[in-house]
Amino acid sequence: MARDTSPQCKQCRREGQKLFLKGERCLTDKCGVERRSYPPGEHGRGRQKQSEYRVQLREKQKARRYYGVLEAQFRTYYAKASRQPGITGENLLRILESRFDNVLVRLGFAASRRQARQLILHGHWTVNGRRVNIPSYQVRANDVIAIKASTGAESVIRDATELTAQVPPWLQADHDSLTAKVLRQPERREIAAPVQEQLIVELYSK
Ligand code: SF4
Repeated sequence: MARDTSPQCKQCRREGQKLFLKGERCLTDKCGVERRSYPPGEHGRGRQKQSEYRVQLREKQKARRYYGVLEAQFRTYYAKASRQPGITGENLLRILESRFDNVLVRLGFAASRRQARQLILHGHWTVNGRRVNIPSYQVRANDVIAIKASTGAESVIRDATELTAQVPPWLQADHDSLTAKVLRQPERREIAAPVQEQLIVELYSK
């Protein structure tokens, strides 16, 4: 399975803001953006021309990096979103937000999407009683998520729950039994991604 292995702090610095890709470290003063608030690379501190295309491209890259999705898959999501009724940008965010790895982060069962992906790939989670080891699995209303019985990852998952203050209203989590339920699809205002989706639609509409 292809995956993005580029340094995560560099990704945040490139986008000029914290994307919270590393879990607990992102909350400390070791954060790469806190330490070096300029883009990476030889010309990172130089002036950069802000064309309309560049702004749209950066917004798309930011969304991709925030959710940890590669370019080809992101395009597939966009094509799917544009076929759905309603606003394409919102549809796109809803699809990204409903990925199983993202949902585990929102529920507080993983400290980062990268950690969530690893927990899923190693088969530590079930959905509706069946093991799901696909990070891009799209959760649906009434899906019941649970930790697999006698898994070795329970302490890691319990540590992650300590970092989560609030679970979004479209999800319901029980941090004691490590189970959760998807109540419904998320609404746009419930998706806490630092992304202006309209700019992505403008980029792909060119
Ligand atoms: Fe981004 Fe986290 Fe690295 Fe800070 S510590 S730059 S938020 S990945």
